[in-house]
Amino acid sequence: MTTWKNWAGNQRANPLKVHEPECESDIVAVVGYATALQQRVKVVGSGHSFTAIAVAPDHLVKMTRYNKIVSIDAEKMEVTVESGIVISDLNKYLNKAGFAMPNLGDVTYQTISGALSTSTHGTGALRTGLAAQITAFRLVVASGEVLSCSPTENSEVFHCGRVGLGALGVLSTITLRIVPSFRLQAVEEPMRVDALLTDIERHIADNDFFEFYWIPHTGWALTKRNNVTQLPADPPARFKTWFNKMFMENIAFGAICYVGRFFPRLIPRLSKALPSTGRTEYVNASHQIFASKRIVRFYEMEYSIRRDAVVEALNRVRKMVDEKGFLLNFPVEVRFTAGDDIPLSTGSGRDNAYIAVHVFKGMKYEPYFREVEAIMSDYDGRPHWGKIHFKSADALERLYPEWKRYIEVRNRLDPEGVFTNDYLRRVLGR
Ligand SMILES: Cc1cc2nc3c(=O)[nH]c(=O)nc-3n(C[C@H](O)[C@H](O)[C@H](O)COP(=O)(O)OP(=O)(O)OC[C@H]3O[C@@H](n4cnc5c(N)ncnc54)[C@H](O)[C@@H]3O)c2cc1C
Repeated sequence: MTTWKNWAGNQRANPLKVHEPECESDIVAVVGYATALQQRVKVVGSGHSFTAIAVAPDHLVKMTRYNKIVSIDAEKMEVTVESGIVISDLNKYLNKAGFAMPNLGDVTYQTISGALSTSTHGTGALRTGLAAQITAFRLVVASGEVLSCSPTENSEVFHCGRVGLGALGVLSTITLRIVPSFRLQAVEEPMRVDALLTDIERHIADNDFFEFYWIPHTGWALTKRNNVTQLPADPPARFKTWFNKMFMENIAFGAICYVGRFFPRLIPRLSKALPSTGRTEYVNASHQIFASKRIVRFYEMEYSIRRDAVVEALNRVRKMVDEKGFLLNFPVEVRFTAGDDIPLSTGSGRDNAYIAVHVFKGMKYEPYFREVEAIMSDYDGRPHWGKIHFKSADALERLYPEWKRYIEVRNRLDPEGVFTNDYLRRVLGR
């Protein structure tokens, strides 16, 4: 029996069978085989979701052999890929060809289809999440049919399927909008969090990609300001990159987390020593700047809220942490994106701020996450589909203006629930 587990190690599955399709007709065959037996199908990407969204009850489909570039169209500025491609591979390919993704999240270990299916996003006040870059896709649905979807063909499935939660069918090939490759100038520096919040609108507006991390038990935030530049690449020397990105952000930080796990009372003091290299500034290709290496494992919850509520919401989280006495060794991450028109995107129809909370692997997260969730609920908070939360369909449907539109497409494409699992039953109602 195969046991599958996700990156954080908090989700497991013992599927009946594992499939590794190499072409679209293999995917059609797997779906046909499962439906004939009245069994369920679940594709897994890189297992980087913290929720049970990728847990396969019966047939687990791995896309590790269906991961190639299909074509690049320099006139239309589009790339078409097989859905199992890992984002870091896509970035390397695009960079070599002189192109880039317009925005990315903070790691690139995910498959493109996994990232799109859960509404993965980065930061940037005028930038959307990744799914808004989709211009077309092919979808293998429960009937065994393959639907070509775009704004002009199967347009309703296209509209809803850009963030599909893996519940509409199996994404086969995906076409994405790309941009000419570009460089970013990155400036990373600590700031007093109160001063930062007083001036937050300016920081968001003045930078192409702005984010910060508030460090619990301190009045400090680590800020990251990335701006498009024509300056030549000037990455830190190899040793400095290793020291800053691997040693400080992973090894030293991991060591501090371990000590904190065994001696939680030391956490507030350890937080004051949280690794920071002071101010650093460098220029590099966009994909090198957006993404970091993450070897310290953790559990995460992230909420999208109305952007105008971010200061109040974060200040309530800070107050709550003090009042409840939570001992936290991970920073709270805050990002910003522009709204889009995708029914189940966490950015649907509004400009957003994202507040993400983390707990070191092996430590108790539920009491802290529930308190944060209660605060985010006061600001129409929408949970990231791939990150831990406690909401069900009855609460979620009120948060998405086009919820019904998505549900109607799902009812039509998958009436028997071939692509469902326990998590989807909870968040979608069946
Ligand atoms: C260290 C780390 C950093 C992260 N950083 C960010 C970040 O910066 N921003 C952000 O928004 N999120 C972030 N995430 C969350 C992550 O982007 C999402 O959970 C994403 O879904 C993971 O992609 P995956 O390939 O691992 O997919 P999985 O977790 O394996 O699957 C996710 C969903 O996609 C579905 N799926 C996958 N492939 C297909 C397909 N071909 N057809 C249909 N459905 C499919 C699965 O069935 C499942 O429903 C991070 C997670 C981790 C662990």
